[in-house]
Amino acid sequence: MNGNEIKPAVKFSLCEQSTQMEDYIIHNHQYGIIICRQHKYAVPKNWIRRHFQEQHKDVPLETRQNIEAYVADLNLLPPSEVPLPESTIPVEGLALYNGYKCLYDECDELKGTVKSMVKHCKYEHKWIKSVGVKWTAQAMQTFFVSSHLKYISFNCS
Ligand SMILES: [Zn+2]
Ligand SMILES: [Zn+2]
Repeated sequence: MNGNEIKPAVKFSLCEQSTQMEDYIIHNHQYGIIICRQHKYAVPKNWIRRHFQEQHKDVPLETRQNIEAYVADLNLLPPSEVPLPESTIPVEGLALYNGYKCLYDECDELKGTVKSMVKHCKYEHKWIKSVGVKWTAQAMQTFFVSSHLKYISFNCS
């Protein structure tokens, strides 16, 4: 250490603020979404306040207000307009699920459970048990949960 180190006071406090924000959310520019670090899913812009109010009661009010103000200024896409990834790598910050992919030709349907996959195959492909397993294990993600849930997959190799 040379002892001449200058501490950039202003810059430091800006850094600190954005670091604090980054502790809770990830702004993904590519898809125009905000991902909650703890819950590992994207939260629509108009749900940010409610999400932090209800799911992050331990976060100080001031921090929650900062997050809300920060997100309000961002250019985010509504869930229905978020593009599907064409990438082969997982989206940072989103949870990984062990799901299933349909193996019928021209069908890449993804389901979270065997039960829902069986239902899909019966309904879409007239699948019957004697045909055997027509799906395979698949790592996948979803941007949003509940009403906007839509699984996406990628090749892990
Ligand atoms: Zn959360
Ligand atoms: Zn299918």
